[in-house]
Amino acid sequence: MLKFAVKRCLKRPVGAHGGARGGVRGGVRHVSQLPPRDEVIPKFSFQKHTHTVSAIDSDVASHFGQEVSLSGWIDKKPKKMGKNIVFATLRDFEGNFTQIVSKDPSIVSLIESANVEDCVTVTGVVEQRRARNAEDKDIRWDVNLREYQTLNHSDVLTAQLESLKATPNDFPQQYRYLQLRIPFYQQALKKRSQAATVVRSELAEMGFTEIETPLLFKSTPEGAREFLVPTRRKDQFYALPQSPQQFKQLLMASGVKNYFQIARCFRDEDLRADRQPEFTQVDLEMSFADAADVQRTVERVVKRIWKEVAQKDIYTLDSTGQAELGPFVHLSYDQVLSQYGIDKPDLRSTLKFHNLEGLATAVENAEYPVFEVCVLPGAFEGKAKLPKKLFDDSEYRNRKPIIVPIKTEDDRTKWVEKFQSMVKFHDLGKINELLNLQVGDVIAGSTRSKLSYENPTPLGRFRQLAISEFPDRWRHDGVDFVGAWVEDFPLFNPHELPEAEKVDYPRYDYTKFVSTHHPFTMAKPEDYERLDSAPLSVKGEHYDLVVNGVELGGGSRRVHDSQVQRFILDEILKVPNPDRLFGHLLKALSMGCPPHAGLALGFDRLCAMLIGSSSIRDVVAFPKTQNGTDPVVESPSTISDEVLKEYHIKKV
Ligand code: ASP
Repeated sequence: MLKFAVKRCLKRPVGAHGGARGGVRGGVRHVSQLPPRDEVIPKFSFQKHTHTVSAIDSDVASHFGQEVSLSGWIDKKPKKMGKNIVFATLRDFEGNFTQIVSKDPSIVSLIESANVEDCVTVTGVVEQRRARNAEDKDIRWDVNLREYQTLNHSDVLTAQLESLKATPNDFPQQYRYLQLRIPFYQQALKKRSQAATVVRSELAEMGFTEIETPLLFKSTPEGAREFLVPTRRKDQFYALPQSPQQFKQLLMASGVKNYFQIARCFRDEDLRADRQPEFTQVDLEMSFADAADVQRTVERVVKRIWKEVAQKDIYTLDSTGQAELGPFVHLSYDQVLSQYGIDKPDLRSTLKFHNLEGLATAVENAEYPVFEVCVLPGAFEGKAKLPKKLFDDSEYRNRKPIIVPIKTEDDRTKWVEKFQSMVKFHDLGKINELLNLQVGDVIAGSTRSKLSYENPTPLGRFRQLAISEFPDRWRHDGVDFVGAWVEDFPLFNPHELPEAEKVDYPRYDYTKFVSTHHPFTMAKPEDYERLDSAPLSVKGEHYDLVVNGVELGGGSRRVHDSQVQRFILDEILKVPNPDRLFGHLLKALSMGCPPHAGLALGFDRLCAMLIGSSSIRDVVAFPKTQNGTDPVVESPSTISDEVLKEYHIKKV
């Protein structure tokens, strides 16, 4: 990573309330002293901008010869060209660029000594752009300055910042506020705000009420680990909500017809690249309503966001598997697992598995009795070698499919030999007719368990890798986004055994159950009776909205009968002391709570997709790092023993 330094400048001390207040940081003493009046007061009296770069850009001709004032930052190190003329690039507060130019000796010397990221306001006349350098060829005009005012110097070392702009991933996270000045991030924050506005406007039009629910909640396990908040009352803790789930159900019991909230949620989980310990959901709940009502509502909101913010449509698949515009297709969990090997398939790709049921069966291992294959047609076309990643064991958690390139005419039938240890083929003729393999294809095959607890399955992982390694192949033409509802999930999963006991793929204790979604999800009516006898076979009324292989949202029809809810908590999930943890909900359900259903959209993920980014960090103003710290404000931080005492907390 590049080193990044801030000039430690004794001549220009930090303000009375800024920085290290007379302390020692990085071995340099910062002296707090009041700077002279004439260095400070002029910064507070400045020419306000009369224009923006984009306003001038939209009709340059009519601005030629006009005097304008612009505000922003010096984006590139100023260049002196010839004896008495200086150029610099100004980036205005909307993130657009123009060139400023001056021959006035006093301004020339000011600009010459300017630093990248100095905050400035300038006044001058719009002129046809004079000097051309290759980098800035988009700039058609410049401003010949009459006035140049520095509103605040930047201590950033110019050369370092210049190179960091080109490598945003290396940008030191403690200077996030500098990174956010870059137009990409300004746009990202704007798009996020636009998306939130669409959510509010569309839901308000549909009669939803926006309601805030408490952030100081109570510890009630919902799935993930919680963040606890100590109080000054002995042994009393709040917990930050993992989601407003219980409060929104309480709102349904409170007579609210349709609720929504753009809600902050907190989960103390291991952080992966695409997770944050605090995140935002568009959370909604509808009473006297069912899954179809929620899905209709959510589709309207999401499609409008895409249309207005990304100017794109979200397609779906028709009954023949072709992309079309229309209500999102409904796919069952079993269907997506057997066709795509994952519960959130990327449906932009046309790749699908071949079901060889009845034609071939797995031989060796009863735990994985289903055999499937996936063909990559013409994967060799124009390629000497297939991407290594497709064959990399570590990508498969030790359950790698067998992958056979069809290199010769013979391979078109001989490929089966590679699978002899895994599968018994009952009708090879039919199989080969069905697959119709051609030279240049690749065939991959693997077994999987019946209940599909491997998610993704080995072949599902292979499909994902093929999609990412061949981004332009096997795709629906001209389609950027494809959405679907995935439903009919098992209501419960067997308890996954701890990490240490995992041999290759996760192993389960089939006598203990956890909710697939959360404990408030209702069973499918046709499976209701099996709640008592065979919980693992019960499907839930849970639905996920999946777009481009990303789970954008998830929700369910809820249990609104307190007896059923109690049975699930007591008898199936064996929650110790459910009354202490969930008594509030059980009571509210027992007092005439209407039937209700809801969903939450992952708003950070949604915004990342809108700007075409794979990282939610790009759409979160001040994200946490991988280990959960905020490098800008340096949190979490230690607390003195004295303060801890007030909270009855002792360090151990
Ligand atoms: N509370 C759920 C979640 O955060 C969403 C829902 O069921 O509405 O995943």
